[in-house]
Amino acid sequence: MDASGLAGGPRERMSELQEKCGLVGAVATSGCDVVESVYLGLYALQHRGQAGAGIVSRSRRKTRVHRGMGLVSEIFTPKARDYLAGHMAIGHNRYATTGRATKLRNVQPLLVDYQGGKLAIAHNGTLVNAVALRREMESLGSIFQTTTDSELILHLAARSREPTMVGRLTEALGQVAGAVTILAMDERTLVGYRDPFGFRPLVLGRTGEMILLASETCAFDLLGADCLGDVQPGEMVTIEAGRIERRQIAPPKRPLRQCIFEHIYFARPDSHVFGESVNRIRRELGAALARRHPADADLVIAVPDSSNAAALGYSLASGIPFELGLIRNHYVGRTFIQAGQAHRVSAVRLKFNPVRAVLEGQRVVVVDDSIVRGTTSRQLVQLLRKGGAREIHFRVASPPIQNPCFYGIDTPTWEELIAAGDDVEAIRAYVGATTLGYLTEADLLASVSHPDDYCLACFSGEYPTEIPARPDRVPFDSERWRRPSACGEEDA
Ligand code: SF4
Repeated sequence: MDASGLAGGPRERMSELQEKCGLVGAVATSGCDVVESVYLGLYALQHRGQAGAGIVSRSRRKTRVHRGMGLVSEIFTPKARDYLAGHMAIGHNRYATTGRATKLRNVQPLLVDYQGGKLAIAHNGTLVNAVALRREMESLGSIFQTTTDSELILHLAARSREPTMVGRLTEALGQVAGAVTILAMDERTLVGYRDPFGFRPLVLGRTGEMILLASETCAFDLLGADCLGDVQPGEMVTIEAGRIERRQIAPPKRPLRQCIFEHIYFARPDSHVFGESVNRIRRELGAALARRHPADADLVIAVPDSSNAAALGYSLASGIPFELGLIRNHYVGRTFIQAGQAHRVSAVRLKFNPVRAVLEGQRVVVVDDSIVRGTTSRQLVQLLRKGGAREIHFRVASPPIQNPCFYGIDTPTWEELIAAGDDVEAIRAYVGATTLGYLTEADLLASVSHPDDYCLACFSGEYPTEIPARPDRVPFDSERWRRPSACGEEDA
């Protein structure tokens, strides 16, 4: 074990490792421009990805694409939005792991020309049969422009003999497995789809002027749109000429395997995901944590922002006052973290500052959403001690993460997950907390309305699909663990 913990590399909390993505699509029902709405929707979903973003739009004659690195507000300048103006568009926010090189070609939506015309796709998830499919297609002569699994869907659609884009896409989606929530569009039609397990969310909405699809309802709130409900697992929604058509192209897999981490961390608390309030569930997780792991303490603090609701739930259930003991700097981007590292300032130190006036001499319950590798938790504990905390009772609003995710979240290999090798006492000792308590799977499931319909594989190891070979045993694992990149034009 090195200084940072297990087998090389730092340990971090879940919230800094994700490779989740945000999707927004819109079609005008009145001929208006929808690009401004897709831009605002991506802005509302910025938490699902900050590495880059893109929009593909369709006006009367042209399909246009603009993609860039960084934040939505930086990429889509007024000039870029003017260029993109159109009556139909899809957008994608991309997240990449800290320290991982991200290139513009990795940013979606992907856009290709094929014999049927233009086809654009934006994908949230990961295909578990990507390696096998790609090998097979390469052996048949396919040439890939990227290493992305999303590109496989484009290739499969292009190879189909179905006469329509919807037919081609339906055939392609029947050949892929894993987490596949997509938006796609050609010159006439916008398509939204969720795989039969329903791993990742997608909601349908509308305003008086447009029909929308988005990863989370918070995008609709910003646009003043009414939510018409979830796209169902296995369902394809097509929007053309102002009409919505909903078709079940594959039977839903029962039980469903919706990602429980959307509720724990990924989604915004003001969203409804899988039909439930994320805020309500997070508060309930905090209350369950207070019941399962009570603490003799003076105050409860959150690791902001993803743990705020759970910490509040802990405080209300335990009667221990909630305080703001850690302040988060929201303006710390990737470049700044790299600059900080040059000055030997850790990302944790850049992001969080303890409030000495609150912490001095106090016995503190600190609530976090998860522990993945452990480095960040350890640094947070050190930070709180420097800030004057006398005791630190670390409470985690999820069970120990013992297995990687193969469904769109870039968690590390087994070797890097602290809970895969260490028990709770060893983790507590590594983190340096006075006490440490996790939720159980039963606590987690008690907080949701349909407990049978969730994936818990990163806790239980019970994967609902075949999974790729262990990444540490895959000879070209760097490919497996590199997230999709994009193809199509780079312009605007
Ligand atoms: S393995 Fe974990 S993170 Fe991945 S989909 Fe399942 S619950 Fe979500």
